[in-house]
Amino acid sequence: MSLQYTPVDEYSSIYDSLQATFAKGTALPLAWRKHQLLQVARMGQENKDAFISALKADLNRPVMETLVELGSAVERAILSAQQLDEWAQPEMVTVPEWQQSWLPTIYKTLLGVVLIISPWNYPVLLALQPLIGAIAAGCPSVLKVSEIADNSASLMTDLLPKYLDPSAFRIINGGPTETTRLLEFKWDHIFYTGNGRVGRIVAAAAAKHLTPITLELGGKSPVFIDDKTDLKVAAQRILWGKTTNAGQICIAPDYVLVPRGSQEALLDVLKEELRSFYPDGALTALGSVPQPMWSPVEKLTSNVLLSNLHCSKDVSPHDVLLEDEIFGPFLPLVPVDDLQEALEYINARPHPLALYVFTHDPQVKQSYPARSGSIIFNDTFQQVAVSGLPFSRIGESGYGSQTMKYTYDRFTHLRSSVDIPLQAEQSLGARYPPYSAENTKIIGVAADLKIPMSNSVDGIVNA
Ligand code: NAD
Repeated sequence: MSLQYTPVDEYSSIYDSLQATFAKGTALPLAWRKHQLLQVARMGQENKDAFISALKADLNRPVMETLVELGSAVERAILSAQQLDEWAQPEMVTVPEWQQSWLPTIYKTLLGVVLIISPWNYPVLLALQPLIGAIAAGCPSVLKVSEIADNSASLMTDLLPKYLDPSAFRIINGGPTETTRLLEFKWDHIFYTGNGRVGRIVAAAAAKHLTPITLELGGKSPVFIDDKTDLKVAAQRILWGKTTNAGQICIAPDYVLVPRGSQEALLDVLKEELRSFYPDGALTALGSVPQPMWSPVEKLTSNVLLSNLHCSKDVSPHDVLLEDEIFGPFLPLVPVDDLQEALEYINARPHPLALYVFTHDPQVKQSYPARSGSIIFNDTFQQVAVSGLPFSRIGESGYGSQTMKYTYDRFTHLRSSVDIPLQAEQSLGARYPPYSAENTKIIGVAADLKIPMSNSVDGIVNA
């Protein structure tokens, strides 16, 4: 299917119409937002077959993997509608007695008009997931879906205005040139999911307007296996995370740090389990992947068939496979002496989005000292099945977290408020000039507060 790009000369009127919707307060009522959220769920559910066909055409996706993607969007839209009242509640702040009459409150207010830019590898969920948060927060939005997954983009372009209020939510289609133009507008938040190179372009464009952004980037997510791990189960769990969507997942296990003595056994069991996953050898999701998608791995492979998973042992830390995110069906095994060497290896590189540790040693679990967006023990990729966990990142894997309430929070302004009654003049009168010695003592009392002994404060052990 060829995707129709939105004419660039329409951008200004789309932007202005969303600003007008914001100004009118269309999205203020929670009931309106809940209806829009449930409409997202209906859009996914009532067009399940169309999404299955679009993702088959875009990524040669097996039905089961598409249902997992679509199901996550449907479920999170419903859960967000159900939990919105609680999220949007104003919060009263605990204050000393003399400030209680001021009613110190945090209101959850609409941030404004936002831009969401999404990638091709999970073209439906990674577009709808931030949109669900923006709807919950009442932010009119432009959704710039990836032009590479063009069948999914065309389908969402057709469906979105049928289900969502078009005065508040619009899709704009285009490639890098068009997105560059979109980035010139002054947005109240930009939510970008994709690679770090473009992430830097988005961050620079946003900085011109001091626009806050969320960056959902990728990177290399390592696996460490300790020598007491059940290798068969570990191999199955690693392969599942590595072969789903043909390894084109931002949190796919990228490489495995394995104790030297276990490497051969791990490679054997990986090959055996791979044969049982894919008896005819070929990964399911690779058949019709368009050329541009292969650019991250293409440079690694001049003559390797990309339709199989390639596991290689004894990969040197300086190998090209260990430079950039692989984002495809290659699994290097890097032998290490022990956990300490694995940690040194990971810590010497950019912080990973996810860190997978196969161990049952409680001490390792409690003290694992490498930094990463998330840490997962004894499985891969499964962390995203937990809707209530933030999908969080650190360092070069981006900033700001998402899913459910965490996405709502990205698009919500915490507006502090106090409402100081006339009667408070009794205690506040002392602040006015001329500053008498007596009033200076009253107002300056906090500077002389008695500092407790460190060992008497909860959580502080040493004096
Ligand atoms: P992509 O090529 O579809 O690009 C993402 C978006 O950026 C698209 O909408 C595209 O039009 C736009 N874009 C491309 N070039 C641009 C430019 N020069 N200026 C402005 N906009 C531009 O997707 P991709 O970046 O190849 O996606 C894969 C990457 O995304 C991987 O690195 C992966 O790890 C990462 N990713 C991260 C997450 C996450 O949640 N953290 C999820 C999925 C993918």
